[in-house]
Amino acid sequence: MCKYYASDVAMKVTVDAVQILGGYGYMKEYPVEKMMRDAKILQIYEGTNQIQRGIVANALLKEYY
Ligand SMILES: Cc1cc2nc3c(=O)[nH]c(=O)nc-3n(C[C@H](O)[C@H](O)[C@H](O)COP(=O)(O)OP(=O)(O)OC[C@H]3O[C@@H](n4cnc5c(N)ncnc54)[C@H](O)[C@@H]3O)c2cc1C
Repeated sequence: MCKYYASDVAMKVTVDAVQILGGYGYMKEYPVEKMMRDAKILQIYEGTNQIQRGIVANALLKEYY
């Protein structure tokens, strides 16, 4: 739960950072676009966030029903 929460926050923050910086945020010459790509991969590897949510939901359903 920490992993998908933190990676979703990282994605939101870095997308906002790119947006705030406009064209400079998007260009490879500046570090923010790399931070955005790095945030994206955190949502994909070590179990995608969708799959992790499914696992958490299944565990909760088993516990309460
Ligand atoms: C840079 C990088 C490094 C990696 N390093 C490693 C490593 O060291 N060791 C290792 O074992 N693997 C590694 N991987 C592989 C990584 O773990 C997989 O990419 C990841 O598990 C996602 O699998 P996939 O790419 O086949 O996506 P897919 O399984 O094809 O998923 C594609 C999309 O569909 C969604 N999806 C799929 N099934 C469901 C479902 N049932 N319900 C809802 N949504 C679903 C996913 O959430 C995702 O958004 C790496 C990948 C990258 C890009």
